[in-house]
Amino acid sequence: MKEEVIDGGLRWLFFPDQCRHCVEAPCLETAGEPSAIYQDPATGAVLYTLVTRELDTDSIVESCPYNIPRKTADGTLAKCDMCNDRVHNGKLPACVQTCPTGAMNFGEREAMLSLARQRLAMLSKKYPKAQLLDPDDVRVVYLVAYPPDVYHEFAIAARSHKVNLTRQMALRRMVRPLTRAAARMG
Ligand code: SF4
Ligand code: SF4
Repeated sequence: MKEEVIDGGLRWLFFPDQCRHCVEAPCLETAGEPSAIYQDPATGAVLYTLVTRELDTDSIVESCPYNIPRKTADGTLAKCDMCNDRVHNGKLPACVQTCPTGAMNFGEREAMLSLARQRLAMLSKKYPKAQLLDPDDVRVVYLVAYPPDVYHEFAIAARSHKVNLTRQMALRRMVRPLTRAAARMG
């Protein structure tokens, strides 16, 4: 939470800094190891396992455009898992369920995007700079009333980061079969 003076008024800016469960997750691509980082096809959640500690964790952290993964004491990477177990049991993620102001919603992607666009249209009348953050690239879509950088340094993925990542991911996809073949040969 930050306090900022915007347009002559003091504003409280709240920003839940959590994994965006990217549609094409750079951390997953960087890991290149499904036993360490994988996406649940049923929910879209990007999930980490204990195997992350056997990988190049610095590269994985660096590849996240939102600066999310954190290294625990034993070297395992950790982050929000979208409360995937709760979701599979028909429950809402805990943060959605407990948010006292009802600011969060959870559901099928198309329904959520439609709701977000409706809310944006409504808010734009009062807040002309209101916008959705990276809605095509992520599964956790924020609606902000002011420019994103006043909320948080990593509110949106930097464009240069995106271009670099796209190149890096394309390169990794090309060399990965060769790396695996070399590992098999011993
Ligand atoms: S926000 Fe970062 S940690 Fe979360 S899925 Fe995207 S790249 Fe991975
Ligand atoms: S409550 Fe669950 S979904 Fe919400 S931030 Fe924490 S792990 Fe993620």
